[in-house]
Amino acid sequence: MSYEPVLIAGCDDPDNVTLKGYEKRGGYATAKKVLKNMAPDEVVTQVKDSGLRGRGGAGFPTGLKWTFLAKDTGKPTYLAVNADESEPGTFKDRYLLERNPHQLIEGCLIAAWAIQAHDVYIYLRGEFPYGRDIVQAAIDECYEKGYLGDKVFGKDFRCNITTVLGAGAYICGEETGMLESLEGKRGHPRNKPPFPAVEGLFNCPTIINNVESLSVLVPILERGNDWFQSLGSEKNWGPKVWCVSGHVKKPGIYETALGLTINELLEEHCGGCRDGHSFKSAVPGGSSCGIVKASEFDTALDFDALREVGSSLGTGGVMAWDDTTSIPEALANFIEFYAEESCGQCTPCRQGTGWAAGILHRLVHGHYMDGDFDELERIARGFTGTTICALADAAAIPIHSYLAKFPEEFKAMAERAHALTTGA
Ligand code: SF4
Repeated sequence: MSYEPVLIAGCDDPDNVTLKGYEKRGGYATAKKVLKNMAPDEVVTQVKDSGLRGRGGAGFPTGLKWTFLAKDTGKPTYLAVNADESEPGTFKDRYLLERNPHQLIEGCLIAAWAIQAHDVYIYLRGEFPYGRDIVQAAIDECYEKGYLGDKVFGKDFRCNITTVLGAGAYICGEETGMLESLEGKRGHPRNKPPFPAVEGLFNCPTIINNVESLSVLVPILERGNDWFQSLGSEKNWGPKVWCVSGHVKKPGIYETALGLTINELLEEHCGGCRDGHSFKSAVPGGSSCGIVKASEFDTALDFDALREVGSSLGTGGVMAWDDTTSIPEALANFIEFYAEESCGQCTPCRQGTGWAAGILHRLVHGHYMDGDFDELERIARGFTGTTICALADAAAIPIHSYLAKFPEEFKAMAERAHALTTGA
């Protein structure tokens, strides 16, 4: 079945970043209709019933999250947009920010109306100054046209959007780390509960949504839930943007319905493996996901099917690796990243990621000690459920997964290292 993109449509047109260009293809008509004809609760119900699962990594149902908002607190409600896209292998939100900023703003307006937030903060990754300028220019146009400000679309509804550029730390993509950073503090994740929907930004009820999740609200409200659920499969509905990197012939951004297989994405959309090689494995959703072997590439890219092969959808940042890839080296690279990005609040994460990175660094540089792999597993087990945020768990997943799926590569590397050390 042919698929018509609804998130990256228009992105090839440079005029799409302007209000005129976006409106030329129907932009803001949906938000205008929603604010005119739908009560906030109706919007929440529709999004909840659509079954939209957040596209930022965790896959939590967006509408359900909105229902957790603390009510009648006497405090303002905020919408915070997580545009701190830092997961290795992930660059889909950057694409949407730089090429389709008005659809994000329109999605923000729909969400702000639904949860009755008058202030929206778009927190962008520190390395996205170019994207921030584009989003800010789009926001400025909206203020001029009366789409933002004291009377959105002339209605008695105030909505302001502020962009904030982070300082370049991965941990600020963790939602409470982001809130701390938005408040002007170090991006240290908070203990939960309380969850942000109860006490978030400035201790007020706050909904945090991802760029793609907000952008997809526009076609959901425009076309309805039947359309949304005609794409994908049960509980894995809707469109999805993929960012594909690695050893494919045509890396880049693709949009399909959820649920195509890894094979279909890599072979039919990305042109297959580079010449002279064959795929060994892929990571479907950023570095925090388990690895998938090429023999498992018939697995559907959705939230549930990937669990069955020990992985997850994550962000949709698909990294495809061919037969030249060293799995231990790939793991060493990722764990070094987590060690570097640990904020240092929790001992298992602060110490453990460094220990694991040290073992892997030593291994790939030709020094193996008996028991290293057991030690890696032991350290990774020590992360689970012992830390404030999920960064340590995110490091544990690839350690367990890569060792379990490619034990022969680790063993061969250990034997080589042993031979180098002993001269045997
Ligand atoms: Fe910081 Fe790691 Fe603890 Fe998260 S798990 S709060 S990154 S030390």
